[in-house]
Amino acid sequence: MPRGKSSGSAKREPVSPPAEAKKAGADAVGDATRSPLKNVSAWKDELEVAENTSESDVHDKKQKTGGAPRVQSKGKGKSAASAGAAKPCSSSMSSSGGARVLYWHRTDLRLTDSPALTRALDPSTYSDHGSDGTIEAFWPIWCFDPTYVYSTRVGVNRWSFLLESMRDLSERYEELNEKQKLWVLRGRPELIIRRLVRDWGVTHLAFEKDSNAYSKVRDQKIKALAEELGIQVIDTPGRHLYDPDEVIKQHKGKPIMTLHQWQSVTSKMGDVPDPLPKPESIPDPGSTDLDEHGEEWGQYAGVDLNAEIRTGNDTCFEHLTGPSSEPFSVPTMGQLGFADPTTTIHGGTIEAHKRLDLFLSTPEKVAKFSKPNSAPTSLEPSTTLLSPYIKFGCVGVRETWWGCKRVIADWEKKGGRGETKEPENMFGQLQFRDMYACAEAAVPHFERVRGNSVCKYVDWALSNVYDDHGVEIIPRPTDRSNPKAEEYFEAWREGRTGFPWIDACMRQLKYEGWIHHLARHSVACFLTRGQCYISWERGMEVFDEWLIDWDPASNPGNWLWLSCSAFFSQYFRVYGLVSWPQKTDKTGALVRKYCPELKNFPDKYIYAPHTAPQAVQEKAGCIIGQDYPFPMLDEHAAKDLCIARIKDAYHLNLHGDSPEVINGTAEDKLKALHEESGATEDMHHEEGKKKRKRSGEGAMDKFVKREKK
Ligand SMILES: Cc1cc2nc3c(=O)[nH]c(=O)nc-3n(C[C@H](O)[C@H](O)[C@H](O)COP(=O)(O)OP(=O)(O)OC[C@H]3O[C@@H](n4cnc5c(N)ncnc54)[C@H](O)[C@@H]3O)c2cc1C
Repeated sequence: MPRGKSSGSAKREPVSPPAEAKKAGADAVGDATRSPLKNVSAWKDELEVAENTSESDVHDKKQKTGGAPRVQSKGKGKSAASAGAAKPCSSSMSSSGGARVLYWHRTDLRLTDSPALTRALDPSTYSDHGSDGTIEAFWPIWCFDPTYVYSTRVGVNRWSFLLESMRDLSERYEELNEKQKLWVLRGRPELIIRRLVRDWGVTHLAFEKDSNAYSKVRDQKIKALAEELGIQVIDTPGRHLYDPDEVIKQHKGKPIMTLHQWQSVTSKMGDVPDPLPKPESIPDPGSTDLDEHGEEWGQYAGVDLNAEIRTGNDTCFEHLTGPSSEPFSVPTMGQLGFADPTTTIHGGTIEAHKRLDLFLSTPEKVAKFSKPNSAPTSLEPSTTLLSPYIKFGCVGVRETWWGCKRVIADWEKKGGRGETKEPENMFGQLQFRDMYACAEAAVPHFERVRGNSVCKYVDWALSNVYDDHGVEIIPRPTDRSNPKAEEYFEAWREGRTGFPWIDACMRQLKYEGWIHHLARHSVACFLTRGQCYISWERGMEVFDEWLIDWDPASNPGNWLWLSCSAFFSQYFRVYGLVSWPQKTDKTGALVRKYCPELKNFPDKYIYAPHTAPQAVQEKAGCIIGQDYPFPMLDEHAAKDLCIARIKDAYHLNLHGDSPEVINGTAEDKLKALHEESGATEDMHHEEGKKKRKRSGEGAMDKFVKREKK
């Protein structure tokens, strides 16, 4: 049975998640693909529960796992004979006194620039932690958790990128020690770790620290488990330039909401640390014998949210160690039941370094990197495209940071001048990533409106839906009272809005799993405050699924920014759907690639083909309204109405944690304000027309020009 007790098919009808699925958000021990869907808030709520995990609960599980048949895995030369017998052990000392270390990879799929791995490989680490200062056995592991495989929506491109990165990492280990690999186990981490401690005699568990809500809950539970089992945990920050928890602490516990705040706090924390070299060697693993039995290694019993993209049978979780022909191997897309990816972006440290080296090979480009001047319309990425690699930890942030510093210093020595500054330069980009991490880690419910103290309340269409107990209903029920918004949302998601620039970006996102930052700006602005007035929660959810570089802080953070819900408040600056892409490409190359039905239109009409005369449409072989949609809304009228409504929301000035938002009265208050101000669809139409005449088009362009000055 592929999925144990899994339900097998997606439930499209609105359902409240079964108790198990809801709990999964808090219980699940995820990996780098994880997309939060709706559960992050629940994880934050569960922090306390995690701290108080009852011992009897853990003991119950232990009872159940006892007495299973013992099987021997047949790993590549890693038998008990070659690697030493298993030593059941529950203290932090092995029988011979050396440390027996599990190194748990999660979002750090690399060997170089890894403070956590370097520390885990340093024998002196263990002299303070109850061992004799030697490493007796070392297993780099990955826990492939069925809970996230089924209960979080992840597109094929991100799955594939993850598996490629895991394979690459495994090969890097083998290069250093032929007995080594990435030991991949299929099951829930807490159950796997319990078993490995028992069967492999593990004494220490090491991993890279992660500060986001989900990871904190997971790691607290793992730490409680470790204490119960009598093993030591060694967690070390390394995912960011500075540990977000430490930055928040220095900021007196408050979230970091501007780049300036982040810079000011971290300026007192010393330089960004130097990247650490790749380890010269990796110790041997110990025994890899395991008791394997069908229960209690974590089959999933909830709704399969990835059923729609699962085209084949998933056999991944049939055995704890994977197929008997290749135990502990990295799963394949086929074993997960997924079709092949569509993206041209491939995972792994080698690809990551190719990207970084390519960028660093042109010093002038590094020194003069200017994000606002990069081109979202470019067919070849005009920025580094490092984000998927940074997200999965295929490349370290310190390596990227100091690589750029070194190249710029050399360039300046040779007379180079005119280096760009933060926030537009590369350092500013990496700092933004840290800034969002420092906001997410300090703000409960950062990934939604309800309960989010920094998020301005707006009466968006298609917001999250909650039951009477405040528990979010997943999947979100269709809003039958607002079919137009539902239709707009689907059209946006699928790239058939009738606005070629938006459609090309959304199709590229789905196909490649990546789009340029300013393309993200365009589609996010359009969906929310620009034209559609649909909740940023919906847009974020689509990005959660399709982005390869999905990040639990950067994604909600940027959606908050773009929708003017937090970080940014100039809601009257809206991207033109024609004028904006024309700034960097008048020929519409990206549109021609991703909306091939429009490829024969003359440049003049490429971003607004509905304005082309009938004869031009016929000549292009594409009749608008028939072969490609007519624009689904009036860009300018919709924009004016959105601006007026958001102005009201700013006037009302409620936030996600305001009592009116929690008790559900905020919406009526804001609607009453719209009636008063004339920000309703009927009342606004005529006024909007007049205003447009007065202010003219291209407000966003004027704004950008002024900002650059
Ligand atoms: C609505 C929206 C959602 C986004 N969601 C994500 C996400 O889930 N994951 C993600 O990594 N980025 C996200 N971004 C930020 C940004 O678009 C991408 O990081 C960037 O486009 C990646 O391309 P690059 O590697 O070529 O970037 P470069 O410009 O080359 O920047 C280098 C690195 O800096 C970091 N970075 C740059 N800009 C940002 C930013 N605004 N926020 C956070 N980090 C940044 C990334 O790690 C990036 O790889 C989002 C932006 C928007 C507008």
